[in-house]
Formats: sequence, structure tokens, C-alpha cells
Amino acid sequence: MIRIEKSDNPPEKLVNKGAMERDANKALYDADPGAYKTGTKKFDIKSSIYGHKTVKSQLMDEQFEKCCFCEADFTANGYGDVEHFRPKKGYQQKKSDRLKRPGYYWKAYDWDNLFFSCQICNGRHKKNYFPLIYNSKRATCHHDDIQEEQPFIVHPSLDDPNQHIGFREEVPYPKDEKGRKSISAFGLGREKLNDIRREYLYHVKLNYIYAKLDFDAISSGTKDEILSMLEMNEHEARILADKARQFIANAAKRTAPFAAAVRAKYPGLPK
Ligand SMILES: [Zn+2]
Repeated sequence: MIRIEKSDNPPEKLVNKGAMERDANKALYDADPGAYKTGTKKFDIKSSIYGHKTVKSQLMDEQFEKCCFCEADFTANGYGDVEHFRPKKGYQQKKSDRLKRPGYYWKAYDWDNLFFSCQICNGRHKKNYFPLIYNSKRATCHHDDIQEEQPFIVHPSLDDPNQHIGFREEVPYPKDEKGRKSISAFGLGREKLNDIRREYLYHVKLNYIYAKLDFDAISSGTKDEILSMLEMNEHEARILADKARQFIANAAKRTAPFAAAVRAKYPGLPK
């Protein structure tokens, strides 16, 4: 997880339709707050607005097609979700809690609450979990001030995830309690994800080695040895080394998959 820099130009769909829906839902709540608190009445939160293709594509662009939590670029084999950081239909302070309604209905169409995530981080792990350091400070309707809340999980654009979550090779570890809760909430240490990250770091390592091949700086004897080992001619080996240098120059940037783990392993790479 790395901090996501969100633009302050929300998609039109949220500014127009989203704002109208938000105001309508606020009025519905004010007319019958008890029914929304018990869940006898539920808001119709429209995915045709928050999940509109223009919203999703802007989120994907700004996140370089990576999940806001696990940083996997999964778009080749999954559609991804538009994730509400503050859950739109109900929340849990603990994962074992019953869902508390009505949730953050007034944040359902807010640009600062929306992120692009993979279906596993969002749908299988985070779901409606939204713990606060002080649950008593929770905003339970639009009249409350969410600035009073201190989320006990890492916010993808307001927090610096690196302060809370570190990596030893492919495995995430908590630097504090917020990090521990976040790793668990988003499933960042799940086995399959660790496997994928390990393979990816191996790929980075190979490139790191190839990037060091400098054929202008070695003796012809060593060069011949290396070429024979690689089973390549010099032209092919130079292309390999150039490509590796390009790859490594970008491997820790925010555009790259698993940048947090790469940065932890290779702190000297340009960010
Ligand atoms: Zn993910």
C-alpha cells in the first residue's frame, strides 16, 4: 500500500447526479431517522452513479490501475470494485459485530471516499469493517462531523501507509496497531498475495542483476564468460541490460505494482 494522490477534480457524474442523490438521501433520513437506524428503511445507493464508467476510469487512471490496498495490477483478469472507504450501507467496529445502519450514506457519492480496489481486498476482506480509535466519536448521520473520527485503519489517500505497514521481502508487518488492523482488514498478508508478491520481487531482483551488466566496463574475457552463461550474443545481452535498467528505474515509483514492498527491499531506487 502506498499513498494515493487523488486529483481535486471529481468526475462530473459525482458533482451533478451524486450531489443530488446525496441531498435527497439526507432529506429522507431527516424525515424518518429511526427507520434508517433500525434498517426498516434502507437507502437506494446507486452504483450507476458511484460506479459509473467515468468514475471508475478516473479512479483507475489516478491509481495506475492498481488496487488501493494490495497494489496488484489485476485488471488483466478482473474488473475491480469502486470501493467506499467509509462503508455506504452499514459499518462494523469489530469484524464480529452486527452491521450497524445506516452507514455513511452521505459519503456514498463523495470523490474523497471512493477508491479503486480488487474484488478480494474489498469484497472478501474489508467489506463493511470500519473501526475507529474512539467509537464514541463516530459520525452516525450527516449531522455529525466526520472530522472528529480517527479511523483505526490506514486511509489510502490521507495517511502515509509506510508509517503503519512495513515489508520484510514479500510479507507485510505492522509498525503499529493501525498497521496491524489494516493488514488484517484488507487481507494484505493473505497467502496467495504473498506468493504473487514473492514472484514479483524475484522478477525485480533478476532485473536488478541484469541492470548491472555494463559491457563497456568489463574485460573481453569476462564478457565472453557472461555471454556464454546467458546463451546470448552481445547485441541481445545489451538489449536485456537496457530493458532491465529501464524496468528498475521505474520499479519503486507509484506507477509500479507492489511499490511498497519494492521500496522496502530496494530503498535506494527512485520513487
Ligand atoms: Zn487488492
